[in-house]
Amino acid sequence: CQYWRFDIRPEKNINNETFSLQTRSHLHPEEGQIKVKNRIISMDATNRLWLGEREELYMEPVALGDSMKGFGLCEVVESKSKLFQKGQLVTALTEWAEYSILDAHTVNPFIVPDGMPLDLAFGAMSIAGPTAYHGLLNIAHPKPGETVVVTAASGAVGSLAGQIAKLNGCRVVGTAGSDDKCQYLTDELGFDAAINYREADFDKALAEACPQGIDIQFENVGGSILDSCLTLMNNGGRVVICGLISMYNSSQNVPGPYMFHNSIMKRLKIEGFVILDHAADFPNMQQYLARWLQDGSLKFKLHCHNGIEHASTALQSLYTGENNGKVLVKIQE
Ligand code: NDP
Repeated sequence: CQYWRFDIRPEKNINNETFSLQTRSHLHPEEGQIKVKNRIISMDATNRLWLGEREELYMEPVALGDSMKGFGLCEVVESKSKLFQKGQLVTALTEWAEYSILDAHTVNPFIVPDGMPLDLAFGAMSIAGPTAYHGLLNIAHPKPGETVVVTAASGAVGSLAGQIAKLNGCRVVGTAGSDDKCQYLTDELGFDAAINYREADFDKALAEACPQGIDIQFENVGGSILDSCLTLMNNGGRVVICGLISMYNSSQNVPGPYMFHNSIMKRLKIEGFVILDHAADFPNMQQYLARWLQDGSLKFKLHCHNGIEHASTALQSLYTGENNGKVLVKIQE
């Protein structure tokens, strides 16, 4: 079966040399393991961090020469565990591969809400949805009328975080990397304002979009955008550090943020999190997410690639902004 091998540690951006598509013979599960058919693999910004040599990480990095790892929706095709049966759908930290052998205790059953397409259910509810829900509702505790700024707002996590903030009565401002993405935020997702951060004078545009200052910063990007937002934080504001994608391609530590001073002056609560730590709460969050997706309160865009051969370029699209929605690679039906 085919799989992607991690060949060359990228200095900066992932490129066409980083991985190569290989073939291996079929593997068989041992006691306590299951064999899965990987149906859909999620492409996540954090995948880039698994390729580095940073000491601080929430999991083992991928070793050179190993198969590339990814979060996947998988179907059990053979089970040597009492926990799972053939035919069951599960989510797991799996491989960019057609088939994989997984330890059964590392795998979670995945229940698709009635009538919801499989790709939407997996794309919106496995990681992105719980991340947006947890970061916004459990960390930032939004109140009606507050101003929330979401960066990388048209992406998977950002689009949901912004919409959940709207459901909670907030004024929501998004930042994104093109006019089309900004138009999608205001015209289709109901954001109050959207700013193309690639255009000139981001600081001025941000200040105009947030005349009452910022109460909640839902941060997905980091770097100078985060600094601009910290400058406008109100007293008692909350800064949710969900992601820092602008820094992931750097093998060096990146300085900043410069406006950290405001964490004292504005009595900010700044909190980062790793959503995998909150897996026990996923069923609860997924109930709400499913209801909101089904009644139209939440909209969610998928950007699907068909075929395992597209995995490397699909991942690269996250860092160039070429993606338009949650990036999935459909490996097999
Ligand atoms: P997205 O669908 O948002 O895609 C990534 C987007 O990031 C791109 O489309 C691009 O949008 C933007 N981007 C990329 N590079 C830069 C840059 N240098 N400067 C500014 N914007 C950039 O991906 P996800 O929704 O999967 O992830 C969003 C964030 O959420 C990431 O930072 C990720 O690490 C984080 N995350 C955190 C989790 C946690 O447990 N804490 C769990 C899951 C995700 P644009 O065109 O607007 O530039």
